Amino acid sequence: MSTSTDIIVLGAGYAGLAAAALLAAEGRDVTVLEAHATLGGCASFFREGAMTFDVGATTFSGVEPHQPAGRVFARLGITPELVQQDPGMIIRMDGQDIVRHADPDTWIDTMCRMFPSGDQRGFWSYLYRIEAASYDLIRDRPYLPPATLRDVVRMLHPSNVRALPLVPGLIRPVAHIMRRFGVDTDPRFLRFVNEQLLISTQQHASNAPYLPGALGLTYPSSTWYPVGGMYRPALLMMRSITARGGRVHFRRKVTSIQRRKGAWQVATQNGETYTARAVVSSIPIWNMPDLTDGPVRSWMQRHARSNADIWSAVTLYLGVEGRPNLPTAYYQIHVDTPLPHCASDTVFVTVSRPDDDAKAPAGVSTVTVSTHARWTDWQTTSAEAYATQRERVINAILGVLERQLPEIGLLPRIYVGAGMPQTWVHYTHRHHGFVGGIPHNVRRPMLLLPPNQTPFAGLYMIGDTAFPGQGTPAVMLGAWNTVERIME
Ligand SMILES: Cc1cc2nc3c(=O)[nH]c(=O)nc-3n(C[C@H](O)[C@H](O)[C@H](O)COP(=O)(O)OP(=O)(O)OC[C@H]3O[C@@H](n4cnc5c(N)ncnc54)[C@H](O)[C@@H]3O)c2cc1C
Repeated sequence: MSTSTDIIVLGAGYAGLAAAALLAAEGRDVTVLEAHATLGGCASFFREGAMTFDVGATTFSGVEPHQPAGRVFARLGITPELVQQDPGMIIRMDGQDIVRHADPDTWIDTMCRMFPSGDQRGFWSYLYRIEAASYDLIRDRPYLPPATLRDVVRMLHPSNVRALPLVPGLIRPVAHIMRRFGVDTDPRFLRFVNEQLLISTQQHASNAPYLPGALGLTYPSSTWYPVGGMYRPALLMMRSITARGGRVHFRRKVTSIQRRKGAWQVATQNGETYTARAVVSSIPIWNMPDLTDGPVRSWMQRHARSNADIWSAVTLYLGVEGRPNLPTAYYQIHVDTPLPHCASDTVFVTVSRPDDDAKAPAGVSTVTVSTHARWTDWQTTSAEAYATQRERVINAILGVLERQLPEIGLLPRIYVGAGMPQTWVHYTHRHHGFVGGIPHNVRRPMLLLPPNQTPFAGLYMIGDTAFPGQGTPAVMLGAWNTVERIME
């Protein structure tokens, strides 16, 4: 079967759905092809009886009207049900709760009290200033990173001069700012910062550039819980596509993307071929060489090779009896014992809100726990070794919850499930189960991430392995910028 469409969007995660919905809103004929049976990608869901589990992403941010997700929702005229969390998160570290109050001043007071060394007030005030300026910088600049001569010319516009002071924030690490404010001498504070940065920029203070670092360290001031599950806003975007005549096809695993006779041809595993003027791909950069040929393949390979140091994840899913009234849905727990086969010293725990009947039936809570892992630690030689390893890590995480988050860990369990790097390969098709996007890095500044506009006419890259990087707000910004480019 062969189908013609104006624009094909590959992948129905947050990047693909945002791009397709924005294109449909501009009146373009758009078709989304998704390999999995449902939407969401790394922010997808699964059901177990009446319980709904977020598979990976659980927190929303960037939803204010001037921020990426807020702008997309406003453009589409959709209003996802999001509940602001205050505290935005609780960090349980060395037996203490560090409460991330949403109000920046209250949060800064907390930091000054808990980590008295150095100029904490100056450090955090600076981060909040950088955060505000960063949104100004990335807003309305779809020509970043420059991919054409026209983009370069537009970068030279005088209005960009005021963005120049932010440039060092792309190549200087958070550690540099910590030194400047004298907050780098307390090892406990460094550990706190490193683990906050790891969940937001995928990088520690010594390597995370301070511009994305500031966004990562301040985001818990605006943390939003999506009622019903992280997939719900994505579902609204999908409905926005179909309401405007667009199509979203599931179980369509793309096997090749080729330029033929001036058009793009996309083949799927079930024998269909789609032809379009343009392709917007949210398939991760590491998967793209296998789907492309000739110079396109070489270009994808080059970017995949220079962005090869990537995390995977281990996740645990619990259904528990009880609906504890916790101060927040989000906890970062510094583990008291290193977790086997994992690569982080914290676990991130999301608990369904007691009033969220869409996520869990009466009297029940659903919990998603995630932590960083290396795919190389999961290349076991036999199914038995893999099963043993899996069992060990599940028990270790359950132990952490029992000891360090007894509010949840000691409740009677009615479901225990888990996801390892192989699980991510299976459900999201991501090469080696690489998730969380390309970590921000001072040695590979953000502007060197794979650009949204490739050198090949009509082929665009979005998603968390393209500019501006990982996390749902960032991939929605990449989608927004790409649509702006296409509409130009
Ligand atoms: C454990 C975990 C926790 C996270 N927590 C958060 C969080 O709390 N907040 C936050 O904002 N971000 C979080 N993130 C990051 C966030 O989930 C991702 O950066 C974002 O969802 C990526 O969206 P995407 O559309 O770029 O990619 P994906 O979500 O991976 O979507 C790509 C889609 O393409 C499809 N696909 C792949 N190959 C093919 C093919 N050949 N043919 C057709 N379709 C294909 C996949 O099935 C998938 O649906 C987390 C990530 C993980 C793994």
